[in-house]
Amino acid sequence: MTNEEPPRNPKPETQKTLRIHERLLAEYGDPPWHPRDPLATLVLTILSQNTNDVNRDRAFAQLRERFPTWESVRDAPLPALIEAIRPAGLAPTKGPRIQEALRRITAERGELSLDFLADLSLEEAREWLLGLSGVGPKTAAIVLLFALGRPAFPVDTHVHRVARRLGLIPERTSREKAHELLEVVVPPPIYYSFHLNLIAHGRAVCQARAPRCASCILRDECAYYATSNQQPVTSNRQPTTTLQLILVRHAQTVANVEGRWVGWGDTGLTDLGREQVEAISRRLAAEVHDGVALYTSPLPRARQTAEGIGRALGLSPIPLDDLREINFGDLDGVTLEEMKTRYPTLYARWRDKDDTAYTWPGGERRSDFFRRVAAVCDDILSRHTRGTVVVVGHGGTLRACLAYLLPEELGRWWSYPLDNCGLTRVVVEVGEARLIVLNDTAHLPDGSSPEKFA
Ligand code: SF4
Repeated sequence: MTNEEPPRNPKPETQKTLRIHERLLAEYGDPPWHPRDPLATLVLTILSQNTNDVNRDRAFAQLRERFPTWESVRDAPLPALIEAIRPAGLAPTKGPRIQEALRRITAERGELSLDFLADLSLEEAREWLLGLSGVGPKTAAIVLLFALGRPAFPVDTHVHRVARRLGLIPERTSREKAHELLEVVVPPPIYYSFHLNLIAHGRAVCQARAPRCASCILRDECAYYATSNQQPVTSNRQPTTTLQLILVRHAQTVANVEGRWVGWGDTGLTDLGREQVEAISRRLAAEVHDGVALYTSPLPRARQTAEGIGRALGLSPIPLDDLREINFGDLDGVTLEEMKTRYPTLYARWRDKDDTAYTWPGGERRSDFFRRVAAVCDDILSRHTRGTVVVVGHGGTLRACLAYLLPEELGRWWSYPLDNCGLTRVVVEVGEARLIVLNDTAHLPDGSSPEKFA
């Protein structure tokens, strides 16, 4: 696929990569590479963000059926385009991104084609793609590698997790940085097959919550396995792979007091909310002595809560987009009463918590929401094996986290009580999660439990 030969005297990390590659080839085969249309690959990859392959493919097929040419996609009325790609989820975000990309290509090249990327240097082509709205290093690398056979290495959640566990890149490497590092460690001629086979291994064996190390063909090459199987000589009280998750819902907001659902919209903290931040921060400072990371939704109410906790623990909050609350779309800011009276049909569907296809108009489908929260849980769990990790989020997000971590309790996903700045502890040992404390509010001022909205 690329004309480069493997390096003659590879560094030790590359030698290790090549050994792993050989085993993966024997296990999963050598997937053949075929050129693909770069523009179709770009659109398909935008559709694939935060969804699975089945929904992505359904959305793409529906898009091509309703709009057979790229010109018709570019010029389609936005609501019709959004409707066509709805199976992929986050359609109100993805639709404008796709049209914006198509308009830019037309304006710059005079035709709807990305074939010109083949004539640019690798870095020029990558920079051009990264200039498109919604295109990050992974999407750019997929277009370059999959469609054009250029030596770019895409890093998705599976590649990121497995590469860190194997020790090909440091444990704390971000997904973005991993692109850079793996392009050095992995020889370009094997990018395509190594990328696909790491994904296959991540799905089949090295799963985020419970890696099946006992049956893994890479055990002797794996840093995670080596570490998690070292028993401490001085203590037998704790397994070496105990990870504590502390889930904290953001502090009280004006919308909480008014009983309004606020998803991706903004609402400020109340005075009581600010007191709650101080209270939870004091408590965590007194109780957490092995904090390794603090993750937060980037929405201001969560971020402000996390900043207080971060100061107390000496940790910088790391924002993760997928920890955001449900996107309530057009209903952002309504009260329960308003929903009941103005949208009775919608209200009835919303009350059915088993209805995973329920979709907030202009917002998020329930199943898509669960999928992104599951992905962010996997991401967090794959970054840490021990210590305490604090996660600051929202009512909906943290309930979905609990549902994912505790699948045997799935039926109660919506009924977990989670007060503002209440504290929930989950312990994860060798991939199994256990709920230790749910919504402990002992540290909060009296009367600090408002109604439970986002
Ligand atoms: S030994 Fe375990 S952690 Fe390492 S690659 Fe295999 S399944 Fe993943």
